[in-house]
Amino acid sequence: MADIIRLLPDNVANQIAAGEVVQRPASVVKELLENSVDAGASEIQLVVQESGKTLIQVSDNGKGMTETDARMAFERHATSKIQKAEDIFGIITKGFRGEALASIAAVSKLHMRTRQADSELGTEIKIAANEVEHQDFCNCPQGTSISVRSLFYNIPARRNFLKSNQVELRHIIDEFERVALAHPNVGFRFEHNNNELFHLPASTLRQRIVNIFGKKFNEKLVPVYEETDLLRIEGFVGKPEFAKKTRGEQFFFVNFRYIRNGYLHKAVQKAFEGLLQPDSHPSYFLYLEIDPARIDVNIHPTKTEIKFEDERAIHSIIRTSVKHSLGQYNIAPSLDFERDQQFATPPPPSDRPIEAPGVYVDPSFNPFQKKEKPSGSAQGQWSSQPTYQDKRPTSKESEEWESLLSQIPEIPDVDQQQESLLSTDGEMVQQRYLQIGKKYLLKTHGEGLMLIHQGRAHQRVLYEKIMASLQNQQVASQQLLFPQQLNFNSSDYPIILELIPSLRAMGFDLDEFGQNEIVVHGIPLFLEDPSLSDLLHQIIENNKDFQSSSKDDLSEKMARKMAKLAALKVGTVLEQKAMAHLVDELFACSSPYHSPDGKPTIINLALGDLDKTFN
Ligand code: ADP
Ligand code: MG
Repeated sequence: MADIIRLLPDNVANQIAAGEVVQRPASVVKELLENSVDAGASEIQLVVQESGKTLIQVSDNGKGMTETDARMAFERHATSKIQKAEDIFGIITKGFRGEALASIAAVSKLHMRTRQADSELGTEIKIAANEVEHQDFCNCPQGTSISVRSLFYNIPARRNFLKSNQVELRHIIDEFERVALAHPNVGFRFEHNNNELFHLPASTLRQRIVNIFGKKFNEKLVPVYEETDLLRIEGFVGKPEFAKKTRGEQFFFVNFRYIRNGYLHKAVQKAFEGLLQPDSHPSYFLYLEIDPARIDVNIHPTKTEIKFEDERAIHSIIRTSVKHSLGQYNIAPSLDFERDQQFATPPPPSDRPIEAPGVYVDPSFNPFQKKEKPSGSAQGQWSSQPTYQDKRPTSKESEEWESLLSQIPEIPDVDQQQESLLSTDGEMVQQRYLQIGKKYLLKTHGEGLMLIHQGRAHQRVLYEKIMASLQNQQVASQQLLFPQQLNFNSSDYPIILELIPSLRAMGFDLDEFGQNEIVVHGIPLFLEDPSLSDLLHQIIENNKDFQSSSKDDLSEKMARKMAKLAALKVGTVLEQKAMAHLVDELFACSSPYHSPDGKPTIINLALGDLDKTFN
């Protein structure tokens, strides 16, 4: 029988290996930026078109390559960074596996120009799918410039696998930020679709953080510093009061390389224990320097995971040094004070004599008298609910009912009720609603009662309107009297640019203004008087977490978010006509019984339910 085992041809082997290193445009960005840093560059420029699907170009002023090295760089396992096996254990540069350039060249059309300081002429190389198409001398500045075009052009399956431009751009920004944060002493520029997204001059770490995440960060940072025999730790943590609901900026660097490590993340969280609101996440930018022999970074092909020899010791050093910093900057005590306040009685106004606390009882209150109570007398500052209560133990259900019903003070006399059926403009209002706790609407329904959650009902109505206008592409917008200019930080700005088409489809009239600003001329009709800037920021926050986002998916999420932000808030007092209108609109919806998040909007209580409550 003939032998059947054969070696894979080089180009096939490279394509397969490329799958490990090059998963998406962001992987190319990471590898090229890291090579430039390793080459000792002090200025690095990243230019990207269409989220890297058409072009990724990295140019540096680093040491460049000789003519031979330029060619060698694209061979698999070609690296200048290790010569013998032991070198692996002492490595502090980013790369050393010598795979990145070979892998990238296997799945794209690559063009490189490079020149060393002492050579007059540089080298130019063009490679497509690992075949060198052209090599020659060229005139070029000192350093290296690599353009990667048409990524995955020869592997359609991979190309199709790429996510929306917005998602891919987000990944690129993440990688860019990581490299830029790891090397504040290097200047970076990042241009996407001819917009400058980041311009980061060489600076201190604090300045770098502020340049990336916005001026507001300056006051949020608490420095961390600790040096032991095992490691040095330096950087910043965010003050607990600025912790965010969404996972904020959390960065660990080990020997100037970004890494992910759940165990160390927990160490930081532990240091914040008791200082954070539930579900909020602290920011941190922590830099560990440790003898490279004590870590193994090579366990993962993209090298963001890392194994430490002394994990537990490192955990405890991190936890104590972060805790120490938080304490030293007097954050813990001031926060404790704030936290306690939540549970304490608010101090009485200083201009009033202090009275002994007591239960306020409204002597005129008669639960059987259907008279409107004078407003404002319902609850004294320290009073609880009216105290007329059957002393028998009540079920939870009926307790809830009691407190609910006790909030219905104004059941008007019958005559008055007749009168108010006519609204101010004389139009006949079909049914009368009561607003309870400024958040529920109550009306009789058959022989029972119907309760409507006004905020969720409004969300449902808005959501269906937004979705309809997106689908029909008919949007109603209102022009602002004074166009509003909104400023975003460099990492949010590209996201808002990507969202512009969808925002327009929803009725926003807005344009980019350059310099991280957009100008809003008009807003959708359904947004009455929102704080615009806040609204757009919140949409962005929301979108940062997108993993899967087809275009439809994105629109749906935006519609849901927008409806939530624009819907009536608890505490909005509604007039009779507005309540009737809201309920009419709710019942005109295709799914009136649930909010866009799937929570109930309407609860019906039949007579039988009421009977049970009074049992
Ligand atoms: P690695 O970084 O793991 O060594 P790469 O495939 O990324 O492998 O790069 C191969 C070699 O090409 C590097 O070791 C380095 O000598 C050279 N090289 C790559 N990029 C640059 C650059 N921007 N400037 C100078 N030399 C570079
Ligand atoms: Mg490399």
